[in-house]
Amino acid sequence: MTQLDYEAIVVGAGFGGLRMLHELRELGVSACVLEAGADVGGTWYWNRYPGARTDSEAFVYAMSFSHELLQEWDWSVRYPAQEEVQRYLAYVADRFDMRRDIRFDTRVVAASYDEAANAWTVSTQAGDCFVCRYLISATGLLSVAYVPDFPGLDRFKGEWYLTARWPNEGVDVSGKRVVVIGTGASGVQLIPQIALLAEHVTVLQRTPNYVIPARNAPIDQAERIAVKREYDAVWARARAHFFGFDMGTAGVVAAELTPAEQRRALEAGWEKGGFRFVFETFDDMTTDPATNELACAFIREKIRAIVRDRKTAELLCPTYPLAAKRPPLGHGYYEAFNRENVTLMNVASDPIQEITERGVRTACAVHDCDVVIFATGFDAFTGALTSIDVRGRDGTSIKEKWRYGPRTFLGIGIDGFPNLFMISGPQSSFANIPVVVDYTSRWIGRALTAMRTAGEDRIEATPEAVGEWCDMLDALMRRPTILAQGEQVGSWFVGANVPGKAHTPLFHLAGLSAYIKDCERVAAERFAGFARSASPTLAR
Ligand SMILES: Cc1cc2nc3c(=O)[nH]c(=O)nc-3n(C[C@H](O)[C@H](O)[C@H](O)COP(=O)(O)OP(=O)(O)OC[C@H]3O[C@@H](n4cnc5c(N)ncnc54)[C@H](O)[C@@H]3O)c2cc1C
Repeated sequence: MTQLDYEAIVVGAGFGGLRMLHELRELGVSACVLEAGADVGGTWYWNRYPGARTDSEAFVYAMSFSHELLQEWDWSVRYPAQEEVQRYLAYVADRFDMRRDIRFDTRVVAASYDEAANAWTVSTQAGDCFVCRYLISATGLLSVAYVPDFPGLDRFKGEWYLTARWPNEGVDVSGKRVVVIGTGASGVQLIPQIALLAEHVTVLQRTPNYVIPARNAPIDQAERIAVKREYDAVWARARAHFFGFDMGTAGVVAAELTPAEQRRALEAGWEKGGFRFVFETFDDMTTDPATNELACAFIREKIRAIVRDRKTAELLCPTYPLAAKRPPLGHGYYEAFNRENVTLMNVASDPIQEITERGVRTACAVHDCDVVIFATGFDAFTGALTSIDVRGRDGTSIKEKWRYGPRTFLGIGIDGFPNLFMISGPQSSFANIPVVVDYTSRWIGRALTAMRTAGEDRIEATPEAVGEWCDMLDALMRRPTILAQGEQVGSWFVGANVPGKAHTPLFHLAGLSAYIKDCERVAAERFAGFARSASPTLAR
């Protein structure tokens, strides 16, 4: 019989990996977490760039598995900064004595399933191998940074950084000329902060975003007490929400209001800020194109009112629907372009040609600089898993199997890859992530419990269930919804931000509540769509 090192190995020690470790311990499953970084935190360990903070409101950007933890932890502001979230996750790890089951500085490079032994062998970059029954990937949906292949980077004489791999010791940009490439969520957070110190910041923008003001503010004690008193209800509302937030609805669609009332609603939503603008202004903001355009025109008007230089303001105005790309939250973003030391350039019309010794050359200009910062996004959802050489039954490689896009059942299981589970995997839900990983970790725990009760030790999604799940997601993408328009605007929602990546829906586009309903149906039907058995190893 094959000797197992652990019953389960979890890859990744961010929100997902820590939550899964807790679940496995509750079930009495021996487990080890392998983490490439030197600490817990995942996203919050790697993304230390100035301005990095959550776009989720603090009270629901948290672990919900422990009442004590929820009562103990005090968030300082509505949108906590990287340092605070990192401190929180370190607190969780210490509070539940998780570090003894985590191996840091351990990058998994390969994992292969041995059918006869019904076991996975997991290999690390350092050459270690671990054998386990269950392999659980918690490698993150936004954990592999994408950097376009600009020629010449190796020649650059200055410093360059990725927002997603920001040095622990920080970067001193004071008095330096900085070029920032990218204006997605990270660039939008970084630019106002860098502008305070740098001599000059040149922002190279390909696609403008609708940046909604976050309206960050301290959380006062009265609010803290009120939330803590009703935390169960908070989580129940978050699980029922399209995006996993504790937010209400507007109770009205735009067409029911007069133009003056619509205007008042938009102004009120803008003042509330954050994703409340999207979810609590009109209930048809992301479903009715006319309502969506009303909001888009309103934001463009705000941009033109804030940004003094008319040409810059126009460049910052998107023309595609709000939410076709994930809208970033701003903390003085548009205002930064009123500074003398910030210049916006359009690299959609004047594309980057190369990095030179002295800076960035576009087709029509040269931007000499001391520092280049790449805020160019992520190989979302699939990048982390396909950069591991994962091989299922008969040596089938996950990378090969997903050449035309990921194929999973529920974003949790893959046919041909027995006993492999994914948390926040492709084709699961994209929503407020702590709520998603809490749900999927519990769901996996329920599946393991059902197997244990039935005397089984092998579970695998059936090809039929995978096929039906993919067809359902394709059908969702073909519906004329706004989220489904990501392909036209180069959104990572559908893999369209990475050249050569298959354009397929990377998550369940119908929202978290619908995703949970689908997973619950499968669980209620005794995990229908998954083949379960006792391997000969167990029978012996
Ligand atoms: C700047 C930024 C802000 C964000 N803000 C929000 C927000 O406000 N709300 C929200 O819901 N989501 C947000 N996200 C998404 C965020 O990724 C999730 O909220 C959450 O942190 C993901 O947790 P995770 O554990 O699934 O993955 P991650 O936090 O990405 O952790 C994955 C871990 O796996 C490790 N790993 C990957 N591959 C390997 C390997 N081969 N071997 C070993 N270890 C490996 C990585 O090192 C990493 O530590 C944000 C993302 C970014 C980048």
